[in-house]
Amino acid sequence: MNEKLKIVADRIKNAKKLVVLTGAGISKASGIPTFRGKDGLWSKYSPSELATYEAFSKNPKLVWQWYNYRRKIIKEAKPNPAHYALVELEKMFGDNFALITQNIDSLHKRAGNKNVYELHGNIFETKCLICDKIYFDDKIYSDDELPPKCVYCGGKTRPNVVWFGENLDRDILDKAMSLAAQCDVMLVVGTSGMVQPAASLPKITHDIKGVVFEFNTEYSGVSVYAEEVIIGKSEESLPELVKLLK
Ligand code: NAD
Repeated sequence: MNEKLKIVADRIKNAKKLVVLTGAGISKASGIPTFRGKDGLWSKYSPSELATYEAFSKNPKLVWQWYNYRRKIIKEAKPNPAHYALVELEKMFGDNFALITQNIDSLHKRAGNKNVYELHGNIFETKCLICDKIYFDDKIYSDDELPPKCVYCGGKTRPNVVWFGENLDRDILDKAMSLAAQCDVMLVVGTSGMVQPAASLPKITHDIKGVVFEFNTEYSGVSVYAEEVIIGKSEESLPELVKLLK
């Protein structure tokens, strides 16, 4: 891993614009299960059966119970060394650093990153389907309070996250695509590269002749665009990388 990390560090030292794309793998060491792993109580459901509008219309209580359960885990979780390593990278690159995440757990912001684009929303926001308000909500509900009512109008609510089959916020997606097209180095961390359109961002960077480096415990759907794939846990490899840059 070290030889490869040196190659990555040397290239990053000369980078003009650095973009990082993260997925659920970066938060695994914080105790937040990925979608591909086993998730105890909920393992009998596949996330793709719960994180959809169809599932929500059929059984809003069940879908809210799942988000309530995940919210509790995420609320208790803390950023891990991989999150903090990305804060160090932002300090080094300043305005020439951007972080695009598929995660809904806020851990990048809680670690201290500032220029963060949350492609798939945030589990600590609730959206009212009646009055359209989106508001901060980190409450852990008791079962009989689910599904929760809008704090403004009492209407039906949903978690403000993007479900499978739904469109991403257009402004955030446009920004992410232009960041991918303008950077000369992209780091891709802990994503299976199976969820579109996020998975197309490394291809954009690759196609405009930027360099993509991947950090994952295994090869993924986007490894093909990477000049180097650093196989290992990102909570170990990213702090090592930062050490080499200092
Ligand atoms: P994924 O679950 O599909 O894939 C996780 C990836 O992380 C895998 O490729 C795995 O090999 C890798 N990985 C596991 N442990 C790692 C580690 N310690 N270091 C580096 N890599 C590691 O996740 P995804 O690609 O982000 O896509 C699934 C969807 O799941 C996204 O839409 C995301 O919003 C959602 N999700 C988010 C969270 C979260 O917010 N933390 C958690 C679960 C799922």
